[in-house]
Amino acid sequence: MGLLEVSGLTKKFGGLTAVNEVSINIEQGSISAIIGPNGAGKTTLFNLLTGIYKPDKGTINFDGHSLIGLRPDQVNGAGMSRTFQSIRLFPGMTVVENVMVGMHSRLRISLIQTLTRLGGFNSQEKRVREKAAELLEFVGLSDKGDEVSRNLPYGDQRRVEIARALASDPKLVLLDEPTAGMNPNESVEAMSLFRRVRDERGVTVVLIEHDMRVVMGISEKISVLDYGQKIAEGSPVDIRTNPRVVEAYLGRRATAEMEAIQGEKQS
Ligand code: ADP
Ligand code: MG
Repeated sequence: MGLLEVSGLTKKFGGLTAVNEVSINIEQGSISAIIGPNGAGKTTLFNLLTGIYKPDKGTINFDGHSLIGLRPDQVNGAGMSRTFQSIRLFPGMTVVENVMVGMHSRLRISLIQTLTRLGGFNSQEKRVREKAAELLEFVGLSDKGDEVSRNLPYGDQRRVEIARALASDPKLVLLDEPTAGMNPNESVEAMSLFRRVRDERGVTVVLIEHDMRVVMGISEKISVLDYGQKIAEGSPVDIRTNPRVVEAYLGRRATAEMEAIQGEKQS
């Protein structure tokens, strides 16, 4: 049985079916990718899984329980956490505070209480800070904890988001375009971070990703969405050689990239 079993999931926005009868199984301990052109419904799928949108149809079973009707905080409490396509840190808060935010579902006292208490350093706050520091070390930012988040380079902000997503001790983490905006070196480093999330912390990973080196480099299974529908699924080799995928996505992308390169040459 999979850790996450999605069946027939459907979401319409007016006349547009953003996610159309999508079924996906995610095995415990796996690394999977969801790919597809812009507007294919990838982020909407994550929003359905995490309780931001309610599906019009379909089932979501996670760790043996249905998630339908749960709020995002309840989904997080059930063991699923995520990062966002557009970074959503509290820009004025420090890096360590942003990671502490991710632990709130595990805390008895509120974060605001923790952050605003004058004096007094209770054992819970100490544990929270220690854990945040450990997570920052894990993502390679141990010396950045006291920096204001907005001052960090983009790639580092994405790492903070991953640390925050891990702070609730999830079973599954959903990463929405985690290497967007990274340079090629940063993407390669991020790839090894995603692998360590699974290998060292035992967290199952699903990522939406455009960088084909990352997708082909770490995914055990790739699911391809196009116009809201899953059009293919399989190993990296299956996907790379699937004519439908090449036509719908890899081909179009390659064509667009070629045109961009030619455009640069001409200008
Ligand atoms: P992807 O992440 O694959 O690029 P999205 O899931 O963001 O695609 O979007 C899929 C489609 O659903 C797009 O056509 C998008 O415009 C539409 N869409 C997404 N969210 C909403 C919304 N809240 N209201 C209306 N349309 C939406
Ligand atoms: Mg998206």
